[in-house]
Amino acid sequence: MYRKNTKVIKVGNKLIGGDNPIAVQSMTNTLTKDIDASIKQIKELEKARCDIVRMAITDIEDAKAIQEIKKHISIPIIADIQYDYRLALESIKYGVDGLRINPGNIGRFSKVEEIVNACKEKEISIRIGVNSGSIKKEFLDKYDGVNECSMVYSAMEQINLLEELGFYDIKISLKASNVPLAIKSYSKMSELCDYPLHLGITEAGPSFRGIVKSSVGIGHLLATGIGDTIRISLTGDPVDEVKTGREILKSLGLLEEGLEIISCPTCARTKIDLINIVNEAEDRLKNIDKHIKVAIMGCPVNGPGEAKEADIGIAGGNGRGLIFRKGQIVKRVEEENLLDELIKEIDKMD
Ligand code: SF4
Repeated sequence: MYRKNTKVIKVGNKLIGGDNPIAVQSMTNTLTKDIDASIKQIKELEKARCDIVRMAITDIEDAKAIQEIKKHISIPIIADIQYDYRLALESIKYGVDGLRINPGNIGRFSKVEEIVNACKEKEISIRIGVNSGSIKKEFLDKYDGVNECSMVYSAMEQINLLEELGFYDIKISLKASNVPLAIKSYSKMSELCDYPLHLGITEAGPSFRGIVKSSVGIGHLLATGIGDTIRISLTGDPVDEVKTGREILKSLGLLEEGLEIISCPTCARTKIDLINIVNEAEDRLKNIDKHIKVAIMGCPVNGPGEAKEADIGIAGGNGRGLIFRKGQIVKRVEEENLLDELIKEIDKMD
């Protein structure tokens, strides 16, 4: 799949942009200064294979906490700073790996310069994040409201500010909760510059709606070669953001890991309890670290045929079923043993 060749920047031990893997990010929702809770949540994110974690830094205590938290985790931390340049400087002092700021919100040029100098010294990259809800009035007036032009040129102003200071380790986000607006904004920015882009649909909403909106928006952009890191914003457990992000990448062939289950929607031909078998399979196979495709199909007529590309699978019959590999039947099994037999066969596979 085509992917735009963007500039490579560093966030801690991760390289972002170019042909590096697309990083999946999330953000803690603990109090950053609650060190134990923050470490616990980041460890859960790491287990879900989160690549980079962002933390809101709201005061000096939060900034100080970074130092202790980093001793216990292995993924890079990005400090999310809103207005106070001192919090950016303190976060850098306490070992943060990246910053998320809007230089235009920091105030005097000299304060931005101080941050940039500290970032240069520690080789820390900066994400410029423009949200559809926070575009400056002058851009809204100039481009007639919230649209891709006001989003992109608002970000460009921030980029120019950093470039004037000779700083180029930049990535950009242009988040909007409106999916078409986010798509148009990122697409326009991708035409105008080569900095890596961090994709997100902001305030995507509660789980189901949020996953749909993010999958459509982020999925569309990734499929057109745009995007170097992603974050799925969901109202809920950040671990779900990571799981969703990785599934989006897997579904586009941008990430190859773990087991992929494909299953049929069931119909009047289904004579086994397929829905329960699929749910149980998801649970029992979730820790298997083999890159294989497993099909769980409701009938033998369409099963092995439709799921030929699967490495292994089940096709249900009437109270029994078939185990097949690459479309070829391996054995016939009673319904109650189907899943156990499938797992035995998977265990034998390299
Ligand atoms: Fe129906 Fe068979 Fe298709 Fe499943 S695979 S939906 S049971 S026809």
